Amino acid sequence: MENAKPGAATDYPRTFEEMDAWFRTEAGCRDYIRRLRWPDGFVCGCCGVIGEPWVMARGVFRCKACHGNTSLTAGTVFQDPRTPLRMWFLAMWFTTSQKNGVSALGLQRVLGVGRYKTAWTWMHKLRRAMVRPGRDRLTGEIEVDETYVGGPEEGTRGREIEKQSIVVVAAEKNGRGIGRIRRRRVKDVTAESLRDFIRETVDPGATIHTDGWNGYPGLPAAGDKHRGTVISDGDEHAHEVMPRVHHVASLLKRWLLGTLQGGVQQQHRGSYLDEFTFRFNRRRSNARGLLFHRLAQQAVAVGPVPYGSIVRGGSVQGA
Ligand SMILES: [Zn+2]
Repeated sequence: MENAKPGAATDYPRTFEEMDAWFRTEAGCRDYIRRLRWPDGFVCGCCGVIGEPWVMARGVFRCKACHGNTSLTAGTVFQDPRTPLRMWFLAMWFTTSQKNGVSALGLQRVLGVGRYKTAWTWMHKLRRAMVRPGRDRLTGEIEVDETYVGGPEEGTRGREIEKQSIVVVAAEKNGRGIGRIRRRRVKDVTAESLRDFIRETVDPGATIHTDGWNGYPGLPAAGDKHRGTVISDGDEHAHEVMPRVHHVASLLKRWLLGTLQGGVQQQHRGSYLDEFTFRFNRRRSNARGLLFHRLAQQAVAVGPVPYGSIVRGGSVQGA
């Protein structure tokens, strides 16, 4: 193991072999979760005292000050006692080490999981961890536009794809390229829906480019510098005026159709789009282990994900 600060951004396995060695035992997995959860030393969940605890069985720590017990995984994605921690780490590795991710079926095969539903549930729990709480807002010049996802013309193979979703995408300008993105599914394209999205994802000082659609004129009220570009010549023109956001929209649709074989139920679309956003915003990261680290870190921070809430669908980004 390296001399990296515990839980720091450099504290991750570099290769499959390293990962395999770090997380071969439950104790090894617990060690890593502990470093992520308490990088500055164990904090008692009962009394808040910082100090070396007694290590009990099954990942329970007992505070030497108040004798209260704190579970290592309680309140994290890894809470489920039936799943060996090693399986979580393998799943996180496979999902972050491949450029386009892995489907539940792919994960089931590579991990030798008995039931498809198990792998499916794991993937959904990990997707919840792909959205970082309190993320920074986009800055500089931002292109914002809505796109329609799903629906009959795209989902001809998936019986369960019925309704279209409206997804608003914000893409940061980075020279001639694209910086970070944010997206959200909205119920409608009213000024209110769009303003809420922009307020939460875009810095007030940013300049926003839109296609001048009716829903956007209320934007300056939110404190943004807003440049509506009225487009009347159809889509061709829109691509030229806002190439970034349109590129993102097409990648996003391809992601839903390709990686996931188009079989995305409408209520889960938002959660798949969370994964798309997670990957897109880290697409230039050469160190795949860094993605693994980020995912593990957020899985510790995000809280447990009850199965019922997965079945109902939805995403952290309110999509
Ligand atoms: Zn205590």
